[in-house]
Amino acid sequence: MSTSEIKILKRQCDSCGKAFKVKVVMPGRYRVRCPHCKEMVRFVVSKEEAPAKMVIAPRFIVPELGHAEKVRDKFYVIKKRGIVGHPYKAICPDCNNEMSIIPTEAGKVLRTKCDKCGTTIAYKAVEPKE
Ligand SMILES: [Zn+2]
Ligand SMILES: [Zn+2]
Repeated sequence: MSTSEIKILKRQCDSCGKAFKVKVVMPGRYRVRCPHCKEMVRFVVSKEEAPAKMVIAPRFIVPELGHAEKVRDKFYVIKKRGIVGHPYKAICPDCNNEMSIIPTEAGKVLRTKCDKCGTTIAYKAVEPKE
């Protein structure tokens, strides 16, 4: 993904009131951890704030998080790290269901469950670089 496809927006933390930057690639609802006070902050990115072409062709710009390795039955792990606040595609290895995930926290094991077959995919994320 080229950097021109990533929008850097300023948001204010509800808890501590400090401003911070977030990187987004499409409109939607986001949840990120405030870099100052570490509280979770929710915010909405409007169509006006994010590039319009992202809305028209999301499947070309939302990257896949990576190959999921089987750990045990109905449980897979993605080794590649996502970036907090960025949307990704995750393909269910059991039924090929396409799920969209947005990592909300860095350094923690996050899980998403396939709503079609119930398979769990675990993954980790890192904080976006300034
Ligand atoms: Zn804060
Ligand atoms: Zn599935």
